[in-house]
Amino acid sequence: MTEYGGKGGDGASDRPKTDGSGTEGSTTTYRRTFLKGSAAAIGASTIPVSAVRASEAEQENRAERQAVTDAGTEGMVSSVHPRATEAGADVLQEGGNAIDAAVAVQFALNAVQPHSSGIGGGGFMLVYVAEEDELYSIDNRERAPLGATADMFLNDEGEPIPFEERITLGEAVGVPGTLRACDVALKRFGTRDLSELIAPGIELASGACPVTVDEPLATAIAEEQRKFNDAAQSVFAPGGEPLEAGDELVQPALADTFRQIKEEGIGPFYKGDIATATAEVVQEHGGSMTADDLARYNVTIDHPDVGEYGDLTVRTQSLPSSGGLTIAQILQLLEAFDLGQYERRSAETYHALIEAFHLAYADRGEYMGDKALVDAPWQGLLDEEYVDQRRSLIGFESAGLAGVEPGDPWAYQPGDPYRVSAATDDASENETSKRTASPFRSDLGQTTHFTTADSDGNLVSWTSTIEQFFGTGIMVPDHGFMLNNELTDFDAEPGGPNEVEPTKRPLSSTSPTIVFKEGEPFMTVGSPGGKTIITTVSQIVLNVAEFGMSVPEAIAEPRIYADVDPAVMWEEGVSSEGRQRLGELGHEIEQESTPLGNAQAILVRDGEYLGVADGRRDGSVIGL
Ligand code: GLU
Repeated sequence: MTEYGGKGGDGASDRPKTDGSGTEGSTTTYRRTFLKGSAAAIGASTIPVSAVRASEAEQENRAERQAVTDAGTEGMVSSVHPRATEAGADVLQEGGNAIDAAVAVQFALNAVQPHSSGIGGGGFMLVYVAEEDELYSIDNRERAPLGATADMFLNDEGEPIPFEERITLGEAVGVPGTLRACDVALKRFGTRDLSELIAPGIELASGACPVTVDEPLATAIAEEQRKFNDAAQSVFAPGGEPLEAGDELVQPALADTFRQIKEEGIGPFYKGDIATATAEVVQEHGGSMTADDLARYNVTIDHPDVGEYGDLTVRTQSLPSSGGLTIAQILQLLEAFDLGQYERRSAETYHALIEAFHLAYADRGEYMGDKALVDAPWQGLLDEEYVDQRRSLIGFESAGLAGVEPGDPWAYQPGDPYRVSAATDDASENETSKRTASPFRSDLGQTTHFTTADSDGNLVSWTSTIEQFFGTGIMVPDHGFMLNNELTDFDAEPGGPNEVEPTKRPLSSTSPTIVFKEGEPFMTVGSPGGKTIITTVSQIVLNVAEFGMSVPEAIAEPRIYADVDPAVMWEEGVSSEGRQRLGELGHEIEQESTPLGNAQAILVRDGEYLGVADGRRDGSVIGL
């Protein structure tokens, strides 16, 4: 094993120069058409990995992922579905801004991929307002209802209810925030009315604009059918027959709900008949949510966390998402290694990544929760001395940090915490304990990320979710939308910063990100993937900042994942020799590969946008 060259965080003198577009130092030529029509641009151009990194990709074979890209000067939309991207592009085309377009994309996604996000869920929306040169986050994370209790996921024996059961319970449903976010975002930053932006969603849900079931939706229906209540069953598996790819998807109840919102605004959803129907079905499934919980719901507007890597400033959602702090810590841990001196796919690079992930996830699990109710050592976690101390645990000759204990960032945090311990467990104050987190396998990529840009330079980076595919499987009868199971992101066992409390938001990993370079917006990026979102976004930033990759290359590059536990997941393209070497170092490398994440990004360069959609799942980009 080669020794790491430490450069003490003084910048990357030898880093390959990149502007992120792949147009310098790369053999790739990007299409530079400026598309005014939207439909014509769907799936506009594809950049096979093999074209941009031919020799490596050939050696590693099978890594034939394709990043879908398009360029434009007047605007950009990147999402997982062509109809949703088209809805956003149409708004931009008609003079709407990036915030307007993002709201249209969200409603369209609810109609065409109802298993991934929708008005029954929540998320985090980053908005860069060019005129103010200011970045905001509209935190629309679901909240626990007032009747929620710390032990609501325990059975009579005091043991956590098995995860597969927990995810279907009424107790798992958080008070949804997505619709409130649409409303607040438009009132604060938009130029169009919600009634206008919901129109494509109505067309798509009603069948006026025919929609067929795509592969991801068909797979999700087949896998999750067991969770469906009668209302969901009648839409997605009528007569017990699950819809298949290519079947027509018509959701009249959802279309009616959208029509009601178009006519009456969000009032009925939070304070009217839809709120009553939501509370009723949640209670039928054992939850405590009342119409009052919906009436009380509001979003918060925050400023995202700040991480640095070289000349990039990485701004990502703050707590209750662990994304911002954890990505910032991972990047800080890694920067001093000057990894650019190694091959991206070398054992040295993977080893450093895995050990940094172990360290960062140990702290994540110990210290993070909803900032409104528990304190976290924000500055301590990113304190230079603290991170240096943690980094010094990384050995060069062998793996050693699986299961590592969290550090003590409180020792580096100025001021007294207002509350460290969980509300129900004073005895646990300042203890380092290992709590039971959500089982990992059920937490993989069941969400959606989309991003928009407009001709004024405004940007949106929005990760939206109902947690697992189809959430709880509970559809609100006669209203046609699925209810999330986001509250399973809380620890099932009481006694830590992420225990269940009324009005609290469960700890998230979602990491909608906007990266700045020399103070100017440089790129947006984000991904689904549960806890893997953090390592996906970290690796994409690292690929650009340290390894000089273009954004499409950075997204296509095979990823790895580890948290505090020993298991290391990897994607095809990570060579068998590399895995063997990592195994020899002592890492526990999984036998089979696993696809990790599905990123959407926009690169901003010289007044031009390059939109990128991950090739791991179908993505669609339209530049204007
Ligand atoms: N519930 C997850 C979180 O907030 C997101 C869902 C996923 O991507 O799997 O971290």
